[in-house]
Amino acid sequence: MTVDILKERTAVPVLRVLPLGGLGEIGLNMMVFEYEGKILIVDCGLMFPDMNMIGVEYAVPDISALEGREADIVGLVLTHGHEDHIGAVPLLLERLGNPPVFGLPLTVGLLKCRLEECEMRCKPALHTVDPAERLSLPPFEVEFFRVAHSIVDSVGLALRTPAGLVVHTGDFKLDPSPLDGHRVDEERLAAFGREGTLLLLSDSTNVECDGWTPSEREVGAAFAELFPQCRGWLVMTTFSSNIHRIQQAVDCAVALDRRILITGRSMQLVCRVARELGVLRLPDPMLIGFKELRELPRDKVCVITTGSQGEPQSVLTRIARGEHKQLQLEEGDMVIISSRMIPGNECLINQNINNLYRRGAQVHYQGVSPVHVSGHAGRAELQRVLELVQPRWFIPVHGEYRHLARHAELARQLGVETALAENGQPVTVSWRDLSFGEPVPSGRILVDGLGVDLVGLEQLRERRRLAGHGLVVARLTLDEASGALLEPPEFLVRGFVPEEEEEYYAPAASAVQSLLAEAPEELLADEDSLKDAVRRCLQRHFSRALEKRPLIVPLLIWR
Ligand SMILES: [Zn+2]
Repeated sequence: MTVDILKERTAVPVLRVLPLGGLGEIGLNMMVFEYEGKILIVDCGLMFPDMNMIGVEYAVPDISALEGREADIVGLVLTHGHEDHIGAVPLLLERLGNPPVFGLPLTVGLLKCRLEECEMRCKPALHTVDPAERLSLPPFEVEFFRVAHSIVDSVGLALRTPAGLVVHTGDFKLDPSPLDGHRVDEERLAAFGREGTLLLLSDSTNVECDGWTPSEREVGAAFAELFPQCRGWLVMTTFSSNIHRIQQAVDCAVALDRRILITGRSMQLVCRVARELGVLRLPDPMLIGFKELRELPRDKVCVITTGSQGEPQSVLTRIARGEHKQLQLEEGDMVIISSRMIPGNECLINQNINNLYRRGAQVHYQGVSPVHVSGHAGRAELQRVLELVQPRWFIPVHGEYRHLARHAELARQLGVETALAENGQPVTVSWRDLSFGEPVPSGRILVDGLGVDLVGLEQLRERRRLAGHGLVVARLTLDEASGALLEPPEFLVRGFVPEEEEEYYAPAASAVQSLLAEAPEELLADEDSLKDAVRRCLQRHFSRALEKRPLIVPLLIWR
């Protein structure tokens, strides 16, 4: 009897789903599908560091769970060109046997630029797909469907496998009147429902926002109202990947006979790629450089630039500080910050807004003017997708844990069976059941610099301490034979200045002296332990005397 049940169970084809990023966090999106040993990967993004990751350029997903499986990977499919979906692709290609990559034109175009910066050892196989065609990567068949999002060429995926149909929304919203006319085909979603969808994976980012996310066109309407009010330079900033937003600013500027200056490295790069692909319409004669800028009246210029998040080296921040040679603001100029404030960046952005006002400009930003809408679906749209697709199982993706939990709650209210998974948690699904497997290694790998230099947690702690508390180098000259101090300890301090130097150094020196005088012979013979003891001793001293915990580096010189 038992044997029969087992036989019957194995007869039901099962699909294994392994999230390696984006579940329980915003960014690093990466999902792995496995059927009978063959693997299809969807997206491989990065995350920009928060304030706690000093000196870290970005984080990438830990993909070690796939190492050794290179031969089984049939391809990497990309849903859209945002950094949190394509940013870690170079690492994946180098580490996982350079599998073929598939995406729409802008996605592949932006990935190419990223790969050029990386000096790849392998030669990437990039394939631009036509979303009208199905892609065959046995045992998977991939159907693309257009979705509205804050970047051109965004798609959701319908993956057909012998185990059943999987619908992955990617990042999306159901904008009823998107700029490019590519509405989400609700009839197609309903057809997936009728066909029978084994599993739905859907974007949870905006589940906390009730109702529908407004259409991108509403920003265009705000631009159309604000632009004619400006008598001087018009400066607009947004994420460089938001081509529709840039297009709307360009269209408004052109209608007012303002010429366009595009500045800031990533803005220039994305606009170049988007113009080459024909997704950004900006005729050559309307584009100007800094030379023409000087010659044109101020009300004939529109500047489109970077810096919407207050990035310290960005063009907008330099303009705000009055440090940009060619772009000095005056009374009558207008600045539009057309993006959301990413949590953690508020201080920098607000500082820019204050400084822009100081320079005499009028400033418009989210909260005071309708100059931004989100690219992610609100709660009512998420509900609509669940109702149309009617999956056998649902797993919320893309969001912090609370977003996933609320999205799961919504699905359960609609009667959809739901599983809450996190990164590294394999899920096995079939029409009959869904189960969790043993967790595999997952998490974030911190990268500093353009290469793949990994930063450990310990180094991160050191960097935080350096930034917040400074550095003390303690130079101790010791007798090789006895371990006795030959000279008084010397201290080199960086990052803070004790007010009464003598007051701190003399007691620090005597603390070290007595530590060494009382140290047992074994300690003096073991340099690492001795350094550790000196470090702890000085740590105690400085935290008591200065209420600081500087990074302490003992330098032992033996004579
Ligand atoms: Zn996105």
